[in-house]
Amino acid sequence: MSINIAIDGPVASGKGAVTKGLSQKLGIPALDTGAAYRAVTLFLLDNNIDIHDEKQVLLNLNKINLRLFSAAQHDLRVFVQGHDVTPRIRENRVSLAVPVIAAYLGVRDYVNRQIAAVAAQGNYILEGRDIGTVVLPNAQYKFFLTASLEVRAKRRKKDLDAKGENITLADMIEQVRQRDEQDMNRKVAPLRQAPDAIYIDNSNLTLKQTIDTIAKYIKL
Ligand code: C5P
Repeated sequence: MSINIAIDGPVASGKGAVTKGLSQKLGIPALDTGAAYRAVTLFLLDNNIDIHDEKQVLLNLNKINLRLFSAAQHDLRVFVQGHDVTPRIRENRVSLAVPVIAAYLGVRDYVNRQIAAVAAQGNYILEGRDIGTVVLPNAQYKFFLTASLEVRAKRRKKDLDAKGENITLADMIEQVRQRDEQDMNRKVAPLRQAPDAIYIDNSNLTLKQTIDTIAKYIKL
């Protein structure tokens, strides 16, 4: 039986880096489900589709040719219409638009089908917002990762500063707060901790300490 490890949590809770580190430590491929939502968003923005028009968004879903490639020790690569869009899905304009489309049931069904198809192929560590609650409620291991709003905003700012996208800390705190609110208050599959998930606040933990904390629970 394949082993699935679900890691859910809010914006900049460290899910990405922790999942990557855990993937290397355990030799299990990682699947970043947010990347699929981001790729759909990028496609819509590139094609000038109004993301607030749910009907238009849903009509355009079957035009997207989305492919996710993930293997142990390798970063996830995301292809849209045959092009590798991995570096572009992290642009801030995508980050700001993605919670809008992630709230549509049709979009979630579409993305979940893509994820389920990949996850069925073997052992995976899946990171997202609703993996332990909706996508894989029977996952063998579930973690809910978080950190304080200020710590998370500082992390996002550092990532964007490194890319030359400058934004003040106050504005970033507001952006992260708004994205959390959108993800937690949407009607479909809102971000929340699964009752059987292990809660980890990593505000005062290093990346390595967080990875080691999670790894201790996992018996392969
Ligand atoms: O994790 P990341 O910040 O890349 O996710 C981008 C967005 O995709 C989230 O803010 C959320 O709106 C959406 N998402 C989701 N469900 C998931 C993963 C991501 O709704 N499983």
